[in-house]
Amino acid sequence: MPWWRRVRHTPPPHGAEPAAPAGTPGDDAGQPYIRDAERRSLRRLLQRRSNLAYDLAQAELALQPENPWTERIAQLDAAIAQAEADLAALRPAPATVPRVQLPATPIAVEDVRPAEPAAVTLRAGEVTLRYQEEIDWAERGHQVALPQLARVAGDVAPLVPADLEASTRAALADHLRQGFSIVAEEALERAAAGEPPPAYTLADLTRPCPTCGGWQDPKGRCAACAELERQRQRIRAGLERLRAERDEQRQEMERYRERLPVIRRQLAETEADIAKLRAKGVEPA
Ligand SMILES: [Zn+2]
Repeated sequence: MPWWRRVRHTPPPHGAEPAAPAGTPGDDAGQPYIRDAERRSLRRLLQRRSNLAYDLAQAELALQPENPWTERIAQLDAAIAQAEADLAALRPAPATVPRVQLPATPIAVEDVRPAEPAAVTLRAGEVTLRYQEEIDWAERGHQVALPQLARVAGDVAPLVPADLEASTRAALADHLRQGFSIVAEEALERAAAGEPPPAYTLADLTRPCPTCGGWQDPKGRCAACAELERQRQRIRAGLERLRAERDEQRQEMERYRERLPVIRRQLAETEADIAKLRAKGVEPA
């Protein structure tokens, strides 16, 4: 109720509402405020009856052996079983992953220039790779992190054994490019921190992953296993949501079942209160 109405209706205290004298024609003229309060009270009771009627229908539905909650729970059970099967099926496929470890040829850090533009030169055997900072002049003003390096000269292809199958050669070349790039970034980080350059070998860049047999990066991380783990995390997160929703559905159904006698009693009380007001001639309008 807006405050101005509340203020205007202050003279007859609201506490007087339930104790209003029995409705006689004379009251209508003499107690207009009470009549008004009773009309509001009736409107509230009618709204309450409508809410309780809805709850009663839901509670009676919840008591049925098959109902909207059990249907939803069955759907969720199926989705959970499917997600659990997907999770179990997420295993590395070692047969398809090549495992070639290159010899322990050292990767020399030939040159590091920390800034403006940052640059790193790496050499392994006859291969020399040069990396340089990718300068984004627009971003330059608020660049905080170390610069991103891009390979500007040289390639890893001569390091890949010629006797490998074409797809394996391509995969190994890709893996080596990523590995060298990580070494170049680390060389730059260490130079910026005043530390000695990293000392990796080609063997460090092609160590087989004990889990899947693929290649680890120079830091001992396996991209294939990391991707599998990301997929597992996604499925686990989905499973958690499905299980939580299933719990909610069960609890909601239980709540309705347990509340049924209370709803019936409240509905009866509300009906009785409505009948009393109606008997006094109160109408909601
Ligand atoms: Zn792996």
